[in-house]
This record gives sequence, structure tokens and C-alpha cells, in this order.
Amino acid sequence: MFHWNNGLKLTKADLAIDFRRRQPRAFISHAHADHMARHQYALCTPETAALYQYRLGPRPTLELPYRTPLDWGGLRLTTYPAGHCLGSAMLLAEDGDRSLLYTGDFKLGPSATAEEAELPHAEILVIECTFGHPNYRLPPREEVLEQLFTIVRRTLDDGATPVIVAYMLGKSQEVTRLLTGQGIGVLQHRKIYEVSQIYEQCGMELGRYELFEGRPRDGWAIVVPPRTPPLDHVPREVRIAVTGWAMDERAKYRLRVDHAVPLSDHADYNELFEAVERVAPKEIYCTHGNETFVDRLIDAGHDARPLGRPVQGRLF
Ligand SMILES: [Zn+2]
Repeated sequence: MFHWNNGLKLTKADLAIDFRRRQPRAFISHAHADHMARHQYALCTPETAALYQYRLGPRPTLELPYRTPLDWGGLRLTTYPAGHCLGSAMLLAEDGDRSLLYTGDFKLGPSATAEEAELPHAEILVIECTFGHPNYRLPPREEVLEQLFTIVRRTLDDGATPVIVAYMLGKSQEVTRLLTGQGIGVLQHRKIYEVSQIYEQCGMELGRYELFEGRPRDGWAIVVPPRTPPLDHVPREVRIAVTGWAMDERAKYRLRVDHAVPLSDHADYNELFEAVERVAPKEIYCTHGNETFVDRLIDAGHDARPLGRPVQGRLF
């Protein structure tokens, strides 16, 4: 049903999945740079199409709204929300004989700016397992949000400026909506602000936020992309990274921030197992993840292997 050719391809439709190199036809699970290229023809959700075209220019797309099956290239293709960022999708492919679910980047549970993930049953599961190590069991979301809000409020009370460091597509918009929902205004770095405009055009309102034009504002937070140098005219910055990697004790030193809060847009270790249980596949292929996760799945009685490695002379 699928093969590996420097990336995952659905054989019957010759459909490349999340390739970073230009392809005649490709499915894009979401608009993060490591999942797309300037394809000749791209299949994706309408929200991902808007973000893809914002990032890479006008390009031919076939839109696959969630839960709307399409017969295409000898396959039935259906997208489901992946809970990772706006428009992020899992792809269910059925060829009349077998079914395959490709998760792309995903997270279970609620998000402020992405539809909650849905996991249909499939016989073959291709799963992204970034946090496939037990060190990445994240605290409950309510605790994480409380931690974020407490740090931001305390910083403002001290007369300093909370500067939140977040990936420009997805996490920035989620943090913005979370903070504006608490009555805290947000100034956004230009690159983040432009992506937020697309979110709003797609109907995802983010609350009271504005473009950061170089000056802090009393009572407001600032959101910037990773590796943004210290801001001019902001004398007392308190930097806060929001990432699942915050579970590493040394994360805040590596990320060069004052606080690291484990707000993730990827499934944590327990959610990966939960996803497997819910899909109830016969075969599992792991991608983008911690190498030991395959062994942990096998230990738990699953038929699992890494994607893209030769197995008994075959390439999967
Ligand atoms: Zn992603």
C-alpha cells in the first residue's frame, strides 16, 4: 500500500507524504517548513492551503476538509484533525483492501487554536513519535497553563516585560490566544503577526493582539520567534520558552531563557501509547522520533518498526 523512496509514498496514487523536496503530487499534513516544499500539486486542508500559500506563494492545491472522503488516484482519502496547529491533519488512506493512517505531527486533548485530534481505526499506523521517551510525560495541561500565567503575571507585577519565545506558526498563536483569554494583551513580532492574520482569515480569532513596533507596553506580553536577539527599548525582559522540551532539566539554559514551560503541540509519551490504543492497528511504523520508542511498542506486544529502514531486504 505504501513504499519508501527517500520519504513515504502511497503507492497506488503515487502520492508523496510530507516531502521536503518538490513532488508532482504531495499531501501536506500541516504548514511547518519541515513538512512541505513547492510541489506541483498539493493535497491539504483548506487552512493548511492558506498557510502553505502564505509561506511559499500561490500554488495549485486540492483541498481536503476534515472528515470529507475523496476518491482520488485509486484511494479513498479522508483527513482528520491532528490537534497540532491550525489545519493540521492526519490522513486516512483506504484502497478497498487495507487502510493506513498517517498521523503527521499531532497532539491529543484540547488546544486553544487547533481542533482536537480524532483518531479513526486503521490497519497500518504511521505515527510521529517526537516524545517517544518516558522522560516526556508532560504535566496536566491545567498545571502547565497555570505555570505560564503565573510567570507572566508575576513578571508584569514586577514592572518587567514577559517575552515569550515560541515557534512562529502554531505555538505563537496558541500562546497569544491563551494570554488574551486571561485579559493580557499581546504584542507580536512581525513574522508571527503575519501568520496570525492568516489564522484570523480562517476564522480563528486570537483576541487583543497587535504588531510589536519596537516599544513595550505596560501590562502587555511580547511574543517572538526562537533565536530573536534581545529587544532594543525593552530594558527588563523575562524570557519564557513554551515547548515540550522544557521537560529537560537543562532546557532553559540550552534555550537561553529565564523559564521553560512544557506547553507542547506534540503528543507526549503517554499520549503516543493512547493514540496507538485508539487506532488499534495491526502494524505500526514510527517516524520522527526517539529510536527506543519502537522497542517500547514491541515490548508492549505491538508489531512495530522504524519507517524508512530496510527490514529483511525490503524497504518500508
Ligand atoms: Zn509540526
